[in-house]
Amino acid sequence: MIDFNIPPFTGNELQYMADAVHNRKICGDGPFTKKCHAFFEKQTGAAAVYLTTSGTSALEMAAILSDIKPGDEVLLPSFTFCSTADAFVARGARLVFVDIRPDTLNIDETKLEDAITERTRAIAVVHYAGVSCAMDEILTVARKHHLIVIEDAAQAVGSSYKGKALGTLGDFGCYSFHETKNYSMGEGGALLLPTLDKRDEAEICREKGTDRSRFFRGQVDKYTWVDYGSSYLPSDINAAYLWAQLEMFEEVRADRMASWNAYDEAFRPLAREGLLELPVIPPECLHNAHMYYLKLRDLKERSAFISFLKEHGVMAVFHYIPLHSSPAGLKFGSFSGEDVYTTKESERLVRLPLYYRLPEEDREHVINTVKSFFRLI
Ligand SMILES: *Cc1c(COP(=O)(O)O)cnc(C)c1O
Repeated sequence: MIDFNIPPFTGNELQYMADAVHNRKICGDGPFTKKCHAFFEKQTGAAAVYLTTSGTSALEMAAILSDIKPGDEVLLPSFTFCSTADAFVARGARLVFVDIRPDTLNIDETKLEDAITERTRAIAVVHYAGVSCAMDEILTVARKHHLIVIEDAAQAVGSSYKGKALGTLGDFGCYSFHETKNYSMGEGGALLLPTLDKRDEAEICREKGTDRSRFFRGQVDKYTWVDYGSSYLPSDINAAYLWAQLEMFEEVRADRMASWNAYDEAFRPLAREGLLELPVIPPECLHNAHMYYLKLRDLKERSAFISFLKEHGVMAVFHYIPLHSSPAGLKFGSFSGEDVYTTKESERLVRLPLYYRLPEEDREHVINTVKSFFRLI
C-alpha cells in the first residue's frame, strides 16, 4: 500500500535530539529552538518568530493577542481544519463563515464586505494547500473596516505572495509542524509577528503570563506574573527534530516539488479532456508543494475513485467536512450568504500521496492507477 503521508525525516534528527538531551536543556527555548527562530526570521522577514506546541496553539495565541472578546465576530472560511475556528471560539467569538473561490479553494475576497457587521473584529484567512489567498484585496478590506488579519499559514511554510512570505502579510501568522506538514517536529507550530509591536505581549502569553523573556534579556530584575497566558513553548527535543529539517529546507521543497510537478504534468491531458480538475496556482503565488489534489465530478465519482485507488494499493484521502455543517460549526457560527462552492468543492476533492522522498516508482504507480480509473490505460 502506498501511504498517503510519511512524516519527514532528513537524517540528523536523532543526533540533534540526543544533543538536546546532552545539553541538559530539554525544556523550551533552548539552543535548537533559538536556531529555528533565527532561521524563520531570516527566511520570512518576520520581526519575530516563536515556536509553539502546535499550529492550533499558534492560532490560540493570535486570538488572545488580537484581544478577541465574547460576542465579537470573526470571518473565516468553512472549508478548513477546525483549529482555525477553535482558537476564536475559545475567546467567545461568533464565527461567520465566508464562501471559498472555486479555483484556489481560499476564502472569496469579494464576499468579505457583505459579511462584515459592526461586531466584526477579525478575518482569519487560510492559505489552502500552501497557495496564498488574494492578500492585497483582503488587506484593503481589513484596513477599510479596521479588522485584524490572522493568517492560518499552517500549510504554507515556504510559500509566498508577490515575493513576501505567507504568515508575514497580516497581523499574525501561524505555522504548523504537525507530522503531516512539509516540515515537522511531531507536534508543533510557530507564531510569526510581522512587526515588534506585539513582541512583549506575545512572549508573556507564551510563557504562562510571565515576563520571563524580558528577565532573561536583563530588562527587568525579577520575573513575575503580569497577564493571562499559557504554556505554548515546545521542548527543545522537538525543536531539535525540526532543526534537522530546516537545514535541508530547500532540499525538502525541491523533492516535494518534483512529485507535485510530475503529478501535474501527468494529469494535464485528463484535465484538458474535462475528466477532472487540477490545482490552480495564481501567478503572484509561489507555493511549497504541500498538497496535490484532484477534483472529480461529484461525491459519487469521488467515492468510487477512492475505493478504486485503495483496491490498487494507493491511499488517497479527502477533507474537510465544511465547518458550518458540522455539529460545532452549527453551534458556534453561521454561513454568510449562499454556500455556492464550499460544500460542492469539498465533496469533489481528493488528495494524492505526497511526502518527502515519495519513491518515483510509487508516484508512477499512483499516476497509472488514476489513468486506469478513467480507462485511459
Ligand atoms: C494542520 C493545520 C492546523 C493545525 O495545526 P496543528 O499543528 O495540527 O495544531 C490548522 N489549520 C490548518 C489549515 C491546518 O492544515
